Parts: sequence; C-alpha cells; structure tokens
Amino acid sequence: MEPKYIFVTGGVTSSLGKGIICSSLGLLLANRGLRVTIQKLDPYINVDPGTMNPYEHGEVYVTDDGAETDLDLGHYERFLGIPTSQDNNVTTGRIYYDVITKERQGAYLGQTVQVIPHITDEIKSRVKAIGDSGKYDIVIVEIGGTVGDIEGLPYIEAMRQLRYDVGRINTLSIHLTLVPYLKAAGELKTKPTQHSVKTIYELGMQPDILVCRAEVPLDHGIRRKIAQFCNVEIEDVIASLDARSIYEVPLLMKQEGLDQRVIKRLQIQAEEPDLERWKQFVEAVSNPSHRIRIALVGKYVDHQDAYMSIVESFRHAGAVNNCEVEIVWVSSDHLSKDNVEELLQGVTGVLVAPGFGGRGIDGKLVAITHARVNKLPFLGICLGMQCAVIEFARNVCGWDDANSTEFNPETSYPIVDLMLEQKNINDKGGTMRLGAYDCALEDDSLAAHAYDKPLISERHRHRYELNNRYINDLALQGLHVTGRNPERDLVEIVEAEDHPWFVGVQFHPELKSTVNRPHPLFVKFVEASMQYASEIGNIEHLSVETQSKTN
Ligand code: GLN
Repeated sequence: MEPKYIFVTGGVTSSLGKGIICSSLGLLLANRGLRVTIQKLDPYINVDPGTMNPYEHGEVYVTDDGAETDLDLGHYERFLGIPTSQDNNVTTGRIYYDVITKERQGAYLGQTVQVIPHITDEIKSRVKAIGDSGKYDIVIVEIGGTVGDIEGLPYIEAMRQLRYDVGRINTLSIHLTLVPYLKAAGELKTKPTQHSVKTIYELGMQPDILVCRAEVPLDHGIRRKIAQFCNVEIEDVIASLDARSIYEVPLLMKQEGLDQRVIKRLQIQAEEPDLERWKQFVEAVSNPSHRIRIALVGKYVDHQDAYMSIVESFRHAGAVNNCEVEIVWVSSDHLSKDNVEELLQGVTGVLVAPGFGGRGIDGKLVAITHARVNKLPFLGICLGMQCAVIEFARNVCGWDDANSTEFNPETSYPIVDLMLEQKNINDKGGTMRLGAYDCALEDDSLAAHAYDKPLISERHRHRYELNNRYINDLALQGLHVTGRNPERDLVEIVEAEDHPWFVGVQFHPELKSTVNRPHPLFVKFVEASMQYASEIGNIEHLSVETQSKTN
C-alpha cells in the first residue's frame, strides 16, 4: 500500500488540542493494524525548541536519537507507544537553515532562492521522507499554529501541492475548529468555523473532515449547518467535547466515527480497532481506589506544561497502582526551612524536577533534606538528582561548600561538574548530552528491582555530571552509585541507604513512560509513596461515592 498522508490543521484559536486529536486518531488507526506515525511541523524560526524557555514553549521533549522537540511528540509516544525521532519534528528554522546551507554549497546555482518553490519543496521533502521510508502506512502531519497565521502559509501551500504530487486519494485534510456556545444566546455558533474553513479555502485546501471542539453536544441541525456551509458531508462533522482526561479522547473519537470516516475516505481496508486495554486504562485513571499526594518541586510550577511528561508518568503509574496521584505543586523559589513543614504537609513523596540555572536551588535542597530525613520516598530527575548529591555532600558528608560548578564555579567541592566534552562548547543549540544511552544497574539496587533487568537505556538532556572523584567518599557515608553508563563510566543513578526509597537519576525516565508501558521507576515510586502513606495513616481510600465525585 502506498503511504497515506493525513494533514491536520487548526483554526479559530490555538489550544484546541490538535496534538491530542492527532494522537487519538493515530491510536485508533494503529489499533486497526495500520503502521502509523505522526509528524509535527512547527512554524517558528528556532531550529528546535531546545533554546526556548519553558514559559514560552513548555517541556522540551527529547527523542532516543537526541532531538530536542515539541511536547506534542510526547503525546504521540504516550498514545502510540512507538518511539519518534528527529524526523518527526520539523521547524521553519530547520527548513531555512537547510535551504540556506544548500544555497551556500551551490545546490541552487543560477537560481533565485524563494519561499515557493524552495522552502515549500524542502517542507514536502521532509514529509515525503517519512512516507517513503517504507515504515508506515499512514503519516499524520500536524501543522502547528492556526490557519491564517503568516508564518504557517508555506506549510499549507506545501500540503496543497503534496495533495497533487501523491494523489488526492492518498491524502486527507482534517481541520480542527471551535464551535463556541454563547450562554446569552443559549446556542452554539458556527460562524467562527465557517470563517476558519473559508481561510483555508483561500489557501487552496478543502478540508475533508471537520473536528469541532465544543462544550455541549452538536445536534443534527448544527452538524447539518456546518456541513452545508463548509462543504463537507454531515458524517464528516465530528464533535470533540471536553473529556475527563486526554486519554478518553480516543474513545470519544471512536464513538464519533473519526477513524471510520478516515479509512473510508482513504479507501483503506482495516479491521475494527481493539480498544479493550485502552478502556481498562481509562477506567483505572477515572476510578482509582486510593489517593496520595506527591510534591513536585520545581521552578515552573505556575506553568505546568513545563512538566508535561512527569505529570503523565504519574497518571500511568497511578493507574497501575489503582491510585490517583494528586500533584502538590511546590515552587522551589518559595520553599525555605521555615515553611517546608507547612508546604509539604500531607505529601507522601517528593519529586525534584529537572532544570537549568541557579534560581530555586536552595528550595530544592530544603525539599530534599526534608525527604531524606523524614524517609519520604524521593525521586530526583536530572537537576533533581544533582541537587540530591549536593544536599547529601553538604549535610551528611559535611562539605559545606559542595556545589555544582553550574552554580558556583569556585566551589572547593565541585561534586557536580561540566562533562569533559562540554568544556569547549560555546554554542547553546543541540549541544548537550542528548538522547538515549545505556545504563548498567547494580544488583539488588532499588533501580534493579524496579526495572528487573541489568541493562537499561534512557534519554538524557544535560551538560553536567556527578564528579567521579567523590563517589567513594559519598558511598562511605551512605549514598551509592547504582547505575553507570558502561562506555563512559558516567554516573546515571544514585540511591541513599537507610531510606525506604531515595533515588536520583541523571536521565529522564518521564520521557519513556507510555500508557502501555508505565515507567518502572514511577510505578515503584508511587508504590513506595502509597506504602509510606498507609504507614502514617495518610492514604485516602476512595469510596465508590467519592470516586464518582472525582469524575
Ligand atoms: N542543568 C543540569 C545540567 O545541565 C541539569 C539539566 C536537567 O535537569 N535537564 O546538567
């Protein structure tokens, strides 16, 4: 079968959940036995989001092959359970960078290099490269931004051309819009959708399917009106109502028949999807029998997209443990010795988040002392692990000045230091230790018990590392290295003795947790926090009544 391309655009406003719709459709098609991937085209000029502030862009998602990408790729992986790669995220910056590099090399000698055809050709080649790889039956292409944005124009034009290049029957255009409910008028309004579809028409694209975000159900009359004015069949007007969790969206899309319409229009024969396992997961998320509170200590707690994968990993691990993990967001900027008891009251686990730069470090150290001394289950991720080592060095080993050279280059105990190969790097973009590396686990460690295998592979995004010079002294005092990268002898995991569950990891486990494969470290962390909660009588048992209330 020739690869089919499904282009997904958005209109009216941003934040309609295009990434979730793409992931849901991907899941439904994959469950029908089709080989599916999703590609995100982002219209900004950064070559990748790696240099952006989390306030601007939310989490930077890292792939196995070391690409720093848009957080939507995280949803694609969590839903589909298939790793993405550099090829799955293309930005305008990347496209221009490559076109200009080629121009300098003489690839276009004699020509004037222009948006059309050179930029649009480059976009098309990126999309086609995935289709032509032979690995997929379906390539879903999510176009970032909103139709009508100036910077999105070359993408829509490239899609328009691709429809002719690969044949109409091999492509489909899905447009996601908003159908607002006006309380005062007491009715749903279709005009914004009509305008949005008109805008995309003017750019030469006719949407085949409209996915309409709405707060109340679309009745037959509204669907007919949208179909008539927007030139689609009534069955191709799909309602997307607010869901209790993002994981319910595939089930809602199935009910609306989105996947059915897609395969019909693309003339694909495919079996019915089997969603039994997915339903069980949604049920476990919606009706847990316990609830615990875990503190997430970080700098960006007022901008929770910055920790998207951590939040979702807790949801996956919670479902396995039949427990809702309520995240208590704790700003490291505001945490101090004076308020730590109060701010962490009632929590039965502490996670210290990844991050960069010195702001909020003191608060993170206070949270770690609290978890270590009170024997609260603790998970430190990347910077969180580095902070755990700093805290231990200062407060247990007595090295008052111990620090990371990221925060104090003059420290007399540089226990976290720049990796050797980072020392001469000046460029900031794409130059960290990125992507998947192996880690060998110590027998009988908490990590080995969690993973239940001796060698693992996890994704990274950092410049600093635990300084091997101090490992023996730390171990003598009770902080042990239990995971190492075998090739480079880099420390990957530390664990504290005399503590039920205290684990710091240099890598990012949250990037590999999926619905079908909840991450073992998160599963065990939640389990340990539940254990702690029941020991101190702080586990909440949810009755059937409360369960339905939480829904
Ligand atoms: N700033 C630290 C480093 O670069 C940690 C990075 C992170 O938490 N992702 O090593």
